Amino acid sequence: MSDQEHGFDTLAIHAGAAPDPATGARATPIYQTTSFVFEDTQHAADLFALRAFGNIYTRIMNPTQAVLESKVAALEGGTAALAVSSGHAAQLLVFHGLMQPGDEFVAARQLYGGSINQFNQSFKAFGWNVVWADAEDPASFEKALSEKTKAIFIESIANPGGRITDIAAIAKVAQKAGVPLIVDNTLATPYLCKPLDHGANIVVHSLTKFMGGHGNSMGGVVVDGGNFDWTTGDKYPLLSEPNPSYNGMILYETFGNIAFAIALRVLGLRDLGPAISPTNAFNILTGMETLSLRMQRHCDNALKVAQWLKEQDTVWWVNYAGLKDDKHHDLAKKYCPNGAGAVFTFGLKGGYEMGVKVVSNVRLLSHLANVGDTRSLIIHPASTTHSQLSPKQLELAGATPDVVRLSIGIEDANDIIADLDQAMSA
Ligand SMILES: *Cc1c(COP(=O)(O)O)cnc(C)c1O
Repeated sequence: MSDQEHGFDTLAIHAGAAPDPATGARATPIYQTTSFVFEDTQHAADLFALRAFGNIYTRIMNPTQAVLESKVAALEGGTAALAVSSGHAAQLLVFHGLMQPGDEFVAARQLYGGSINQFNQSFKAFGWNVVWADAEDPASFEKALSEKTKAIFIESIANPGGRITDIAAIAKVAQKAGVPLIVDNTLATPYLCKPLDHGANIVVHSLTKFMGGHGNSMGGVVVDGGNFDWTTGDKYPLLSEPNPSYNGMILYETFGNIAFAIALRVLGLRDLGPAISPTNAFNILTGMETLSLRMQRHCDNALKVAQWLKEQDTVWWVNYAGLKDDKHHDLAKKYCPNGAGAVFTFGLKGGYEMGVKVVSNVRLLSHLANVGDTRSLIIHPASTTHSQLSPKQLELAGATPDVVRLSIGIEDANDIIADLDQAMSA
């Protein structure tokens, strides 16, 4: 099947997948094996020297994982992808491929709380230094650049605020600086937004969320846009210098527009080890077949809930870019024309205490730390996901004490609204 000729919904089902050559199985089998038999010694040697593509060991590559990778690459419009054990593992491998100790990257302050922790704590310990910028102000990224900058990192729809980032404006800054723009597209999914079409170079996802979509499996993925020139200067030695573990091969020379994905697999995944399990890859693949249907329902329900919240006396404000009078509505129309996603925040007049009360009183909604489930989810970031941040960081991340975050599921919208209604008036 030529992926280029088919529409998005067809790709979500068929891209990367074919009947199993050994058995004819129509669904992608779970290749629950750690290792693969070599045809002969020459084949083994070729695989290890990267002269031939093929399966060796499931830490590096597995056929179920490979279908997932091809499908995500096709949906995002990238040249190749690498699936790993979680969204955080995907971010770790991306920066491992770009950074040397002492290097810097610029990131939007408005990010998933876990990413803020990862960048501020663990990445700092590796000598990879984050410099924060303001997603609402593309010029702030330019100001944050230095000679040591190796990348820019943003989210398309920012968690938890539900804000829409002006990807094209920040891509211009990255292009001028000669560094790749990495976009975390977890909350949008390629059904709502395709960052590579707006100038991004690398896309990452937590597949744990809307892509898998059923709240049952962890996964992450890196998509190589195939549109960045890794030979610029000596900035990216992993790509542009002879590699000692592959007989001096220069990965960019050998692999061209899939070199970044290859480097992350044969160096990052090989050495750091966060492989996705074949069973989780299968679960996520199954979820992705209904991505369009689910995302449209998620967005339609989210808009109905946001419109209802807006009319409530107990609600101070609603921050949902799908609302016509929202300050991000124009950005939403440009970047997410099918809908503004299903994760957004609102502010309660009763502040911290009222936030805690509402999450305690819900019955249909689940109080937990996740997004992108079929089920509707609710959390009070200031007392949970963002509780490690300072008051200043809370404010900058859009997670002040009055904020409640919703991830609207695909139940009946009226039932979601009725549950919020009883929880807020209890
Ligand atoms: C959940 C999430 C992550 C981290 O993904 P895990 O699969 O939990 O490791 C990264 N970015 C965003 C926007 C997320 O929502």
